[in-house]
Amino acid sequence: MPELPEVETTRRSIEPTLAGRRIVEVIVGRDRVLRRQPVPELFVPRVKGNTVTAVGRLGKFLDVSLADGISLVIHLGMSGRIEHHPDSEIPHARHTQLVLTTDVGEQLRFVDPRTFGFVAALDEDERHLVFANIGRDAFTDLPTARELREAWGRSRSPMKALLLDQKVVAGIGNIYADEILHRAKVHPLLRGEQLTTRRIATIHAAIHDVLADGLRWGGTSLEDLAYLLPDGRAGQFKERLAVYGKTDEPCDVCGRAIRQITVRQRSTHFCNRCQREPRA
Ligand SMILES: [Zn+2]
Repeated sequence: MPELPEVETTRRSIEPTLAGRRIVEVIVGRDRVLRRQPVPELFVPRVKGNTVTAVGRLGKFLDVSLADGISLVIHLGMSGRIEHHPDSEIPHARHTQLVLTTDVGEQLRFVDPRTFGFVAALDEDERHLVFANIGRDAFTDLPTARELREAWGRSRSPMKALLLDQKVVAGIGNIYADEILHRAKVHPLLRGEQLTTRRIATIHAAIHDVLADGLRWGGTSLEDLAYLLPDGRAGQFKERLAVYGKTDEPCDVCGRAIRQITVRQRSTHFCNRCQREPRA
């Protein structure tokens, strides 16, 4: 699923196409893509003819500001991606759920085969509801190590689950959580209440560093190529992953075989030499 580095790569790529442009045509695919729109009939009229003032992001959400206070929120879900086309000539890919055409004729298309993603054009109150349980952005607004300790330090949840919980830190998903814990040399089952000040500082640094690395390489495109950059290229971070999806391969740091376990129903990869098991 696209996580912060993939969504931020997408944001940076579509910003020049959208910023300051008027949206002259809007085509919606399946009704299901509008399921987070309180009144689905309002989506097209709120977007069509409107002008983009800013192309933002919070966690895994694209958050596009329009001129009259409306926010166009896009979540790529499990398998969504944005395509950029300089014109409307190329036929729509299967599973195209949204097409936006700008006043200079460029198109952005949201393609989402499984439709776990959504698009919504929201007024201020509606936007607050969608973002009510979303915490601070893991890259641009990462809480301090002290704030993370306050948020996590009494929790009995394993670190893997705490990193995935979007309420405190938003944008980390399954791939980058595993990478962050390996970089920090922290076992995925270590509980929040077991964290020392030093470990929190290590995790804090690893969150920033791993996300920055992912972003530098355009994010992670897995074998399914569900995520691609808007220009059609694949993100290159997969070749640089340390543990995610590398079960039984040797750890780059120590050579021991990477292990896979399930934590709260999520597949989890780690090195049990670099990331020592916590004492019960
Ligand atoms: Zn190792």
